Amino acid sequence: MTTTHDVINPATEERLTSVELVGVEETDEAIAHAVAAGPAWRELAPADRGRLLRRFSDVVDDHLEELAQLEVANAGHTIGNARWEAGNVRDVLAYYSAAPERLLGQQIPVAGGLDVTFKEPLGVVSVIVPWNFPMPIAGWGFAPALAAGNTVVLKPAELTPLTAIRLGELALDAGIPEGVFTVLPGKGSVVGERFVTHPDVRKVCFTGSTAVGQGIMRKAADQLKRVTLELGGKSANIVFDDADLDAAAAAAPMSFLDNAGQDCCARTRILVQRGVFDAFMERFESAIKDVRVGDPGDEQTQMGPLVSSGQRDTVRGFVEDAEGSVDVAFRGSAPEGAGYWYPPTVVLPGGTTDRVWQDEIFGPVVGVMPFDDEADAIAKANDTAYGLSGSIWTRDVGRAIRVSRGVEAGNLSVNSHSSVRYSTPFGGFKSSGIGRELGPDALDAFTEVKNVFISTES
Ligand code: NAP
Ligand code: MG
Repeated sequence: MTTTHDVINPATEERLTSVELVGVEETDEAIAHAVAAGPAWRELAPADRGRLLRRFSDVVDDHLEELAQLEVANAGHTIGNARWEAGNVRDVLAYYSAAPERLLGQQIPVAGGLDVTFKEPLGVVSVIVPWNFPMPIAGWGFAPALAAGNTVVLKPAELTPLTAIRLGELALDAGIPEGVFTVLPGKGSVVGERFVTHPDVRKVCFTGSTAVGQGIMRKAADQLKRVTLELGGKSANIVFDDADLDAAAAAAPMSFLDNAGQDCCARTRILVQRGVFDAFMERFESAIKDVRVGDPGDEQTQMGPLVSSGQRDTVRGFVEDAEGSVDVAFRGSAPEGAGYWYPPTVVLPGGTTDRVWQDEIFGPVVGVMPFDDEADAIAKANDTAYGLSGSIWTRDVGRAIRVSRGVEAGNLSVNSHSSVRYSTPFGGFKSSGIGRELGPDALDAFTEVKNVFISTES
């Protein structure tokens, strides 16, 4: 029995297309193909595997605008973001195309022989992708996994399968052999679950909610299956009284409104030193009012709709339905009518235990709270189950370094909000996840170290 899923444009609520969902049987077949394709892929000369990945990167570049437009329609991403995201897939492929020839082991001094280590591929690697960044998160999984000699099965989110399906086709166009990289649109509870329970899948690389990630880790224990988990966040944006306040306030809106707040790195807790709190809020309010929310296809738009009506209900539930306990300081604008719109919303939590301050909302909502001194800023920033990213605004270099070291999070930026670069490691502390993606570290996540001793005495 085939089931299908209607793919909806979140800016218009119109049906874009419908996608056939893969079941358990087809998932098992794809995994069997991935197993069969493994040896030839692994044994390809390193330079040839690199060349194929470079070709894949070039083909993505040739289709950049098509992929970007597909994401605007499917996920409501602004066209500027969607072009960056397609470009990111290209760049991540190009970056890891150099890896097959640089997958270096070690030679370790021992008595009686030669000792060397190899970085061996795991076998079949599965990648489970969420709907918030369908292209980049897919690429961060499949590009290093393929470079390290694994074959890959990938499940996009049910809401946003279109760009992943297209990337699967482009891989074949680029000459990546059949079975090496297979995209399987389907339900998390079907295809995703099967990735976790199938004994031939050696690793699950998952990005999504903390609850689902925890369930995957529990089930993965049965087979000691490797996991990389990129989960939620509730990151702090710490503004000290010696910061360039104009710059900090101007940058704060897009640090939580990018992708309509559906970003695990969103800086959704702003901590402002007490002496400059009012001055910051004044500047921040005018910056929020200037954010252009609307048609994601318009080049001037900074924020589009939320991905689904369900996600909008969730976001609303944190603000409107919280029994009047949430104090809204000010809001930005949002279109009315069709589309899953929600305005930029700034709230003043009553205390650090408020839901709006503790839970990941995954929408355009930020809380702002004052702090007293450096120690208080670090304590408040760390008062969360999460630890993905964060920002520090100060002109004092020593303080910037002390606070960067003090905040328990995987990705920090000083006097900026950038945190994801394909050449640097990305991942979370605490409940934000396990393992690192991107940069040199990702290859370790997709290989096992093998030690070989060769006797020189016989
Ligand atoms: P989710 O359920 O964790 O979905 C993420 C991915 O996991 C999707 O591909 C999903 O497939 C799949 N999945 C779901 N259940 C699974 C299972 N039992 N086994 C294996 N795979 C499974 O996230 P969501 O429900 O879409 O979003 C809920 C909340 O999670 C958001 O509001 C946000 O707070 C958080 N979130 C965080 C991130 C992040 O980047 N860290 C990304 C997305 C969501 P289906 O799409 O088919 O269900
Ligand atoms: Mg879910």
